[in-house]
Amino acid sequence: MACNILVLNIGSTSFKFKYFNMEDESVIAKGKIGSVFTDKSDFEFLAKNFKEKGFLDTKDGYKICLEKVISLIDENCEGGRKNVGAIGFKTVMAGEINYPCVLDDDVIDKMKDLSLVAPAHNTPYIEAYKIVKNLFPNIKIVGSFETAFHNTIPSYATMYPIDKDLAQKYGIRKYGFHGAAHSYVAHKLSDKHEKIISVHLGGSSSVCAIKNGKSVDTSMGFSPQSGVAMNNRCGDVDIFSILYLMEKENMNAEDMRKFLSTKCGLLGMSKISNDMRDIENGNDKTVLDAYTYSVAKYISSYLATLGGVDAISFSGGIGENSIRIKKDILKRLEFLGLELDDEKLENTENTGTFEISKDTSKVKIYITYVDEELMVAKNTYKLLERR
Ligand code: ADP
Repeated sequence: MACNILVLNIGSTSFKFKYFNMEDESVIAKGKIGSVFTDKSDFEFLAKNFKEKGFLDTKDGYKICLEKVISLIDENCEGGRKNVGAIGFKTVMAGEINYPCVLDDDVIDKMKDLSLVAPAHNTPYIEAYKIVKNLFPNIKIVGSFETAFHNTIPSYATMYPIDKDLAQKYGIRKYGFHGAAHSYVAHKLSDKHEKIISVHLGGSSSVCAIKNGKSVDTSMGFSPQSGVAMNNRCGDVDIFSILYLMEKENMNAEDMRKFLSTKCGLLGMSKISNDMRDIENGNDKTVLDAYTYSVAKYISSYLATLGGVDAISFSGGIGENSIRIKKDILKRLEFLGLELDDEKLENTENTGTFEISKDTSKVKIYITYVDEELMVAKNTYKLLERR
């Protein structure tokens, strides 16, 4: 089969891509468009002997972004678009279709149906799918769902205590998300460690318990809204407080969906910003404590899930960069006999996984610079190879 795979990572506002030669998993080209739907978005494209950095008018959405990427591949990569063997999408959720699969109308319909649950994620992919299908009518587009890595969570850990018939009818259970990020951590660390807790903290955050390379529990659930607080998304909240608020504030389901996904999380708690850097600068101790406490609580709960822990990995924009947040979380877990190495912590390097614990630490601590696109490319390649 053709070995070149173009991976598209489409966020609600940003658009990233990586173009791989899967013979050796090398990157032929990569790039990023910072903000889709603006008249001047930053833009970056890198190939072997070519680099372009500038601005792009992306008011018209994903079409212009995709056309720009494809024209740069045509101009700067061997064989141009003709050499693209398959496309991998880092898709988010399609309910029970929680495995990598070739996207077709049925899968897209299921994604549409679940746009209510993951509006910021499914909607852009559905739009991008139509455009990509037009640009590449004859090649396979594979959806590597973020839920797929969590297929191995035992059913007792995915079950919600609600009516069983309704849960089955609508597929209401824990699915888990951030599969590309957590599976990258498993891929990098599972040879060395049996019991890993992967702490992915970014604009969107989740914690995952990994045993022998497989996910056995995670903090996100039916939707990417539960678990620890995120930039704008709420994380765990008592459901009855939401019902109470809806009645008191006269909010319908759509109002509440928007509220929970755009006005809560760090932004809602701090009323300053959704960016952890601003919250750290503002030194809002209560918000910082609420955040680090909830992450530490998830990590502790996974000690029971895993029967202990050998390694903790931090990833994502906050997990990689914030020394204070890592320290505050780990301080709450000192009872585990873990010891941070301050010198390593101050001098991190992007080497895939970078250890930040002392040699004497009972639990190893890492920063993992996750390559989500590589995991999508691997899943895409594996699926098409089997066909
Ligand atoms: P996403 O979940 O959207 O992919 P990222 O993993 O890129 O997001 O993380 C983005 C977030 O990381 C930003 O919202 C910002 O709050 C946080 N961040 C980035 N750099 C730092 C830093 N130096 N200190 C604290 N937080 C940071």
